Amino acid sequence: MDWVFSAAVALVLLKLAAELWLAALNRAEVRRHAARAPEAVAAIMDEATYQKSVAYTLAKNRFGVGEEIFDTAVLIAVLASGMLPGLFTRVAAWGANGAAWPGALAILLAGLALSVPGLPFDWCAQFRLEAKFGFNQSTPGLWVADKFKGAALALVLGFPLLWALLSLVKWLGATWWLWGFALLFTFQLLMLVLYPKLILPLFNKLSPLPEGDLRARLMALAERTGFAARTIEVMDGSKRSGHSNAFFTGFGRFRRIVLYDTLLAQLTPEELEAVLAHEIGHYRRGHIPKMIALSAVTQLASLWAVAALAGSAWFNPAFGFREGDTAAAFLLAGLLGGAATFWLSPLTNRLSRKHEYEADAFARDALGGPVAMVGALRKLAQKNLTNLTPHPWFSGFYYSHPTMLEREAALNAKAG
Ligand SMILES: [Zn+2]
Repeated sequence: MDWVFSAAVALVLLKLAAELWLAALNRAEVRRHAARAPEAVAAIMDEATYQKSVAYTLAKNRFGVGEEIFDTAVLIAVLASGMLPGLFTRVAAWGANGAAWPGALAILLAGLALSVPGLPFDWCAQFRLEAKFGFNQSTPGLWVADKFKGAALALVLGFPLLWALLSLVKWLGATWWLWGFALLFTFQLLMLVLYPKLILPLFNKLSPLPEGDLRARLMALAERTGFAARTIEVMDGSKRSGHSNAFFTGFGRFRRIVLYDTLLAQLTPEELEAVLAHEIGHYRRGHIPKMIALSAVTQLASLWAVAALAGSAWFNPAFGFREGDTAAAFLLAGLLGGAATFWLSPLTNRLSRKHEYEADAFARDALGGPVAMVGALRKLAQKNLTNLTPHPWFSGFYYSHPTMLEREAALNAKAG
């Protein structure tokens, strides 16, 4: 067996080993606390809710471990089988010699085919795991429709983009990745603007928060904090899940704040103000341009890597592809990239957690104290059965938000 292939498999297995180990650490930590909850927990959850959150965390953990092992086995089997180069050769024959579109199509077909084995896991996560803990609101019909829409969207958006990128390779040669970056980055900015307008509505209904006390109150808060919202939107998240959330999308003139209907049902007006102030905090502290800049750097590095790998004599052939086939290098980078970037996730999550602390502090200052924000976080933890005692290494690796107790401590620390 080729050493490049063996090294790739070793990287994939190394990531799996790290994930299984982190999951085991987290299970042990949660069980250790389950017998006697830390004092701070009592203020957040009653004993019954806490025990339910422990059971939910452990069930999700075990499910995740099974899924991870399965996904890894499928990936290695597919890479070893030679199926992918076979697919590429067949699809390439459909186009004229030198055409860029068959490569784009082959990448998308491979991606769709590779997503099929994981579908039963998706199904069980929704209709067994989430249902068991009372979160599932979706129906089999809706679930199937979502999958079809997702696949159609991947084709409709992915095909022209990949076709354009691969055309740049043909036209520009070695420097294609620089121009490819300009194309990809423009596409990303466009998607930030279009996503809430064109894509989100395919899956969910967005409606402006109706006139009334709550709206007046939230608009006044937005005004006061320098956000000047034109509208606050409500999304029917309850269509699929009882989990609640709020998020911020777009940038500049196109910024919008979306609250889940589940959140509106769960929080008091004061707590909703705190959540809105937190989201506005992300905007006012400049987190959005920072994250866009970070993703630009990542894109540039990834495209350079694809160009370098496609041009190398050792990468593509190790997996049965032709040297210089950029489409194949794109697919392989997509399949194997996670095994490398996984090790960077503690860093990116750390930056994200820093932003969350800043947004929390912004909300606290905007509301004149930590009470409403702490109240909102506590209620969200109860309703979502959040794990209150993750292992520090687990949360360090995976959590984009600080843990509930960390956020509460930070909110109270600088207050008063
Ligand atoms: Zn946030």
